[in-house]
Amino acid sequence: MEFCVAGDHTSPLLEGFVKGVSEALTKRGHRSCPQPSDDPKLVINVTRIGQPRPNFRRRSRATFVATVVEVDALPPHIDPTQHTKHLGELLQILYPVLVRALSNLVIGLVRTEKGYETFFVTLELGCYRIEPGSGSYFDLVCERLLPLALARFIIDNELVEDLPPALWKGNEQTEKMRFYGKLLDELGLQPAPFPIQNILNERDLRHVYKLYGITGLSYGNLSARHDEKSFWMTGRGVNKADLQKIGKDILLITGFDAKRERIRVSVPKGSDKKARASVDAIEHFLIYQAFPQVGAIMHVHAWIAAVPSTQQNYPCGTLELAQEVLSLVQRAPDPSSAVVGLKNHGLTITGHDLDELFARIKGKLIQNVPMG
Ligand SMILES: [Zn+2]
Repeated sequence: MEFCVAGDHTSPLLEGFVKGVSEALTKRGHRSCPQPSDDPKLVINVTRIGQPRPNFRRRSRATFVATVVEVDALPPHIDPTQHTKHLGELLQILYPVLVRALSNLVIGLVRTEKGYETFFVTLELGCYRIEPGSGSYFDLVCERLLPLALARFIIDNELVEDLPPALWKGNEQTEKMRFYGKLLDELGLQPAPFPIQNILNERDLRHVYKLYGITGLSYGNLSARHDEKSFWMTGRGVNKADLQKIGKDILLITGFDAKRERIRVSVPKGSDKKARASVDAIEHFLIYQAFPQVGAIMHVHAWIAAVPSTQQNYPCGTLELAQEVLSLVQRAPDPSSAVVGLKNHGLTITGHDLDELFARIKGKLIQNVPMG
């Protein structure tokens, strides 16, 4: 893999960090390239916390940008060792940096008496840390960074206007999705997305949406099997509490073109060309394909005690996340009623159908996802 460092700011702390990470990456056989390079896989973007900027013009969505900032000081009441407790405040400090610097991940360094605290913040609002004085610190940073940087996004769609007119208004399954979408909202499981429109201007907002292949930030999704080969799924960035239109809010996923890395979506004639399937469509696709007895899947940013969890926090919409979730579903005693944790992120839950799925998890969901 090629990586490069780009920056508009430095400090002894940041300089030491960049040097250490670069050496650790080189030791693993990755090549540092001077910028501007055509298409590095990873860009380490070093910037100022008060004025975060992208110092790199990203040409391809496959480029992963990790922005590094020095956090001058944390508000005194924030105990870094209790970062899950102070999640909201840490996100308030670091999430705007992620978005403004048009990056996939932010690494925030905070100097403390013991050394420095390292916080990682992801687009999915994950936040985890490396403790000061951790032995092979730069190896730990690489272990956190590389799986994310090397993951493959499957978020492009191919919209085909071949949905039979009899389904243009949906069916019993999509009715159920509407009902349970509202319920998610009532249960507080459709968390308010981070208000990125408040920290970005119109132009940057459009750029971010294009960059991440999204049309708005919203979390969680629902799907229900239609037949052997296809399933209904909530659209990308839509309000789950108000699922209206077939071909926009709810889409019929009919396949995955592995060669072109595209999700095939069947829509009514004359549908909105901008409609997109949820970024997790690849994950749901792999599960429905592997387990004919699975009839419904839900993904939420919440937790259930003692669930098995993925080891890495791969970004949403990547093949790696989908495969790791699939293998955990496989290992469940009954793959058609599995509850799988996605590290620092949320849950994916399978069911025979939506009624059975929701009845089984009733009262068990915890709103706060453990971060570590
Ligand atoms: Zn998610």
